[in-house]
Amino acid sequence: MLVGSYDPALVLISLCVAILASYTALDLAGRIATAKGWPVLLWIGGGGVAMGIGVWSMHFIGMLAFSLPIPLGYDLDLTLLSLAIAMLSSGFALALVSQERLPFWQLLLGALAMGTGISCMHYLGMYAMLMQPGIEYDPLLFGLSLLIAVLASGAALWIAFRLRQNTPYVRLVRGGAALVMGVAIVGMHYTGMAAARFPDGSFCGAAPSGLGNDWLALLIIVVTLAVIGIALLTSVLDARLESRTALLSSSLAQANQELTQLALHDNLTRLPNRVLLEDRIEQLIGKVQRNGGNFALMFLDLDGFKPVNDAFGHHLGDLLLKEVARRLRDNLRSEDTVARIGGDEFVLLVELAEPEDAVTLASQQISLLAQPFQVAGQELRIAASIGIALYPGDGASQQELLRNADAAMYHAKGNGKNGYSFFEQSMNTNARNHLQLLHDLRAALARGEFVLHYQPKFAASGEPIGAEALLRWQHPQRGLLMPDTFIALAERTGLIIPIGDWVLDEACRQMRLWYLHGRESWRVAVNLSALQFCHAGLVDSVAAALERHQLPARCLTLEITETTAMRDADSSLEILGRLSGMGVDLSIDDFGTGYSSLLYLKRLPANELKIDRGFVRDLEQDSDDAAIVSAIVALGQALDLRIVAEGVETSGQQDFLTRLGCDSLQGFLLGRPIPAEQFLDCLSATA
Ligand code: C2E
Ligand code: CA
Ligand code: CA
Repeated sequence: MLVGSYDPALVLISLCVAILASYTALDLAGRIATAKGWPVLLWIGGGGVAMGIGVWSMHFIGMLAFSLPIPLGYDLDLTLLSLAIAMLSSGFALALVSQERLPFWQLLLGALAMGTGISCMHYLGMYAMLMQPGIEYDPLLFGLSLLIAVLASGAALWIAFRLRQNTPYVRLVRGGAALVMGVAIVGMHYTGMAAARFPDGSFCGAAPSGLGNDWLALLIIVVTLAVIGIALLTSVLDARLESRTALLSSSLAQANQELTQLALHDNLTRLPNRVLLEDRIEQLIGKVQRNGGNFALMFLDLDGFKPVNDAFGHHLGDLLLKEVARRLRDNLRSEDTVARIGGDEFVLLVELAEPEDAVTLASQQISLLAQPFQVAGQELRIAASIGIALYPGDGASQQELLRNADAAMYHAKGNGKNGYSFFEQSMNTNARNHLQLLHDLRAALARGEFVLHYQPKFAASGEPIGAEALLRWQHPQRGLLMPDTFIALAERTGLIIPIGDWVLDEACRQMRLWYLHGRESWRVAVNLSALQFCHAGLVDSVAAALERHQLPARCLTLEITETTAMRDADSSLEILGRLSGMGVDLSIDDFGTGYSSLLYLKRLPANELKIDRGFVRDLEQDSDDAAIVSAIVALGQALDLRIVAEGVETSGQQDFLTRLGCDSLQGFLLGRPIPAEQFLDCLSATA
């Protein structure tokens, strides 16, 4: 027997190559799993080549490490054939682990195929030495080497398959697996070598013509490392690219989520918006239909928000809304919904144990919002009106429930603000009436259905000094309508502009008649709504009306509410300045209900302050109101403004107001609003 020996350096290198090749193969298997389409084939092909060269060169370097006391060489054709077998079986193995699933039988088949492939490569490589008289193999070790090849292949396939997904520490785990695989491949090789017996007198048939030893070793190592290196590099770069793509797509997903959040929530308060609310109502309807139970839909509208917004500006208004949102949210359970669906409109969606619980909840919310708010250093007071629709009962769909809760809210507002109403079927009739009213209002002006009533104004001495023109609508079916039934509607639809022009014209016409009757010192007062005041044509309309009826401007008083005058301070000043420049008399109506700044009041070119009738009403009972009225009087005197008290109903009030120093009085006690034709007769009757 010839005794072989091993070069330890080359053995070590063969081990390294085996481990590196295994690592590359595992890495490529990972790429295959995440790739799609034709790149999969590319990865399998390239991976097969790299892995095949790796395994084969491990084997070959192992052969080179081995020497016998005779010269050795390798037949080129057979050697190349063994390389091809290595590549094919590697490619097959990679294709196998790139499957979606790897059932046991398939793993077994793969292990057998790959194990056989590696063994074929090994023993064909041995055969390439063309030993004469031939190599004898120890059957036990030979069998063991086959078993190792199959087992190692099975383990390798299984690991490669499990490692396909990029799990945490994947590189570390892959390194460990590559170590195991590398050792197994090397183990197979050296077991196979140990099985080989070279009888004495053997000689190597390939030695004279085949590949020689020395230069081959270097070449093979270099080429192998280059191929494996390139494969590994490509794989790593591609993984980078892919993880960048993954990052991009995850940030895209996040942006998408933020967009959805934006689309479903109100920007200011972060509460759900109408879209999300409607969806939640729909879901709750479904839930109640399946499991029973009740829920309430509460439509909540703030009272007194607009004046705050007008007086302090949008920024403060926004802060207030946020505070309101926070209070509402904090008072509810997390499964309840508070949504903001309009400027100062909120909707509460609450599951109830008993329908009666809605009462407690609604009054809770109302008293919650009635507490003063501290916003940006200001103490602000607002209130809320709530309309409640219950499910089941008050509507079958989310639209109907919302509509009915809205109708109930309007009802609550109509009943005096700061309260709640449950929906009743009759409210729907109201809504229909409302629509009809709007329809009629559009036609009213052309049909000449408006009339003015005049309420006299008196000096403190009791002498009449003019009248306030108050609009009435002679409705063909409903009779004489008061302004509170249609002014808000006219404002919302813009109809107030032509109607207001008509009032101006008609009041001037009437005043002209009185003027000609010798009442030259009288003034007629006309109310302006906020929308008219903002309208560009106001100053021209006033001038045209005065001109048309040849009326001195001092005979016309324009009444604007405090809130309107304070709304957009600079543009208000400009318009008021032009009107005052024409000589028109200006009055600040409902004074005391808004939030006037004293500084601003001083700059206003107004001539008169009209104390709101709310203060006059409780004058005798409420000492606060008396204090407020005397403060307003003092303020008016300081600013050189006339003070008018409206809503005087009792002689007690009359005395009080005269004593406090009001310049003029107006009220039911002294004269109710009446048509122009009765006006003069009425005055002389009371005088
Ligand atoms: P306002 O400007 O505060 O008008 C005074 C209101 O107080 C009138 O109600 C008048 O009838 C009522 N009033 C007068 N004396 C007394 C009293 O002693 N006791 C009580 N309880 N009320 C008294 P009216 O006519 O219903 O008008 C309501 C509001 O409608 C007016 O409030 C005004 O803001 C608006 N308005 C009336 N006419 C016009 C108009 O031509 N154009 C505009 N834009 N608004 C108008
Ligand atoms: Ca008025
Ligand atoms: Ca008033």
